[in-house]
Amino acid sequence: MTKTLTAASLSAALLVFASPLALAQSAPSALVVSTTEALRDKALAGSAAYSLLETLTTEIGPRLAGSDAEHRAAAWGVATFKAVGLANVHTETFAVPGWTRGEERAEIVGASPQRLVVTALGGSVATPPDGIEADAVVFRTYQALLDAKPGALTGKIAVVIQPMPGGRDGAGYGLNYRIRGQGASEAAKRGAVGYLMRSLATNENRAPHTGTMVYMPEFAGGGASGGKIPAAALSVIDAEQIGRLADRGAPLRLKMVLTPTVRVGATAETVVGDVVGSERPDEIVLIGGHLDSWDLGTGAIDDGAGVAITTAAAKLIQDLPRHPRRTIRVVMFGAEEIGKAAQAFASVHAADEPHHVIASECDFGAEPVYAISLPKNAAGSAWGLSFAKIVAPLGIEISAKLPRDGGADLEALKATPVAELAQDGTHYFDLHHSAEDTLDKVKPASLDKAVAAWVSFAYLAADTDVDFRSLAAQPAVK
Ligand SMILES: [Zn+2]
Repeated sequence: MTKTLTAASLSAALLVFASPLALAQSAPSALVVSTTEALRDKALAGSAAYSLLETLTTEIGPRLAGSDAEHRAAAWGVATFKAVGLANVHTETFAVPGWTRGEERAEIVGASPQRLVVTALGGSVATPPDGIEADAVVFRTYQALLDAKPGALTGKIAVVIQPMPGGRDGAGYGLNYRIRGQGASEAAKRGAVGYLMRSLATNENRAPHTGTMVYMPEFAGGGASGGKIPAAALSVIDAEQIGRLADRGAPLRLKMVLTPTVRVGATAETVVGDVVGSERPDEIVLIGGHLDSWDLGTGAIDDGAGVAITTAAAKLIQDLPRHPRRTIRVVMFGAEEIGKAAQAFASVHAADEPHHVIASECDFGAEPVYAISLPKNAAGSAWGLSFAKIVAPLGIEISAKLPRDGGADLEALKATPVAELAQDGTHYFDLHHSAEDTLDKVKPASLDKAVAAWVSFAYLAADTDVDFRSLAAQPAVK
């Protein structure tokens, strides 16, 4: 029997066949949509995330990159992935600098003597055992430090007290990042013998916030320090105290003692496991968080939460009677905090990268997701419109903006399309990298709401044949 083509069906057929983009945009089936909705609702009703996070932060505690604790965390990760039922569970080991915190003290000497609360920046060199004492030069802004002439800080301790703006999306951290990352090198280049900075933080208490820094190689050899000067973060309150003393115009003299050490031969591990796809197991949806943390707290929000959220999402999918078509690869990255995770993963998985259909990392705390950015042309596709309906009840909107970047764990995977599930970060930098990053700050219901977003994303991306790479290769669709 032949079917008569009406004008309408003919033009519809022509429309479909005329556009390769339309061909790539197959809408998820009713079954796939209802399965995703069921996973979402199951997560909301209570996922494994909080229990995983409670175990990691209680039994392992802080997990400094390259430390014995990070190795224990990796063993926990392997056992956890196996308990969840993931396949191909293994670790990938790589070399890291084994930096370990020592004593850390600072004080104002001379007039108005008082203790300051500081913490060494990760990667900082040590002071001599009895410390360094020098006059301080206080900069209200980082730009003011950059404007200082060569030699202007000879023999001084440079102090940058610029505040960090807050906000839901954490953009202030990106804006101020170089104060921590590069400030010590910039100060050393101008002759400084020590560097203090206001914590990159939004809280108002005396918990200082650590984080990694690098000595920029181009500044090596500068002055007696060889470009490497000890560097620490002041608590927000202590930075404000220094600001008030600097306002008085009297000379400010500081003493600082930092005694970190570096252990040669340290390693870290990234833990990998798969929910094996039922039809296209070689196509990979990549999700994960980082297993290491700073040493001051127990790494609950950074990033035990990300590990717990993505693992709990994977568990919900692993437990289904039928797996999605594609493989979901779940990763607990090692040594993210010192900037070593992404390159290590990308080099091991170089041959896999052409099979990565989409990736997203979870590394912004334990609060719910409020917006999702998808790779180019995905938001307006039939898949994207379906996804938007599934996550709308979670209060999530699909952003018109493309993802900023893949994040610190994925940035070396240049050819992999990334999605960004933006969590509410209003209070993230109150806690981040400080002693206050502990389990008590995490609300189980918020964590489950985040899992609901992640499980919806991972399942819907894995149980489709939409190719996010070829969508992105098309001209932009309005
Ligand atoms: Zn993190």
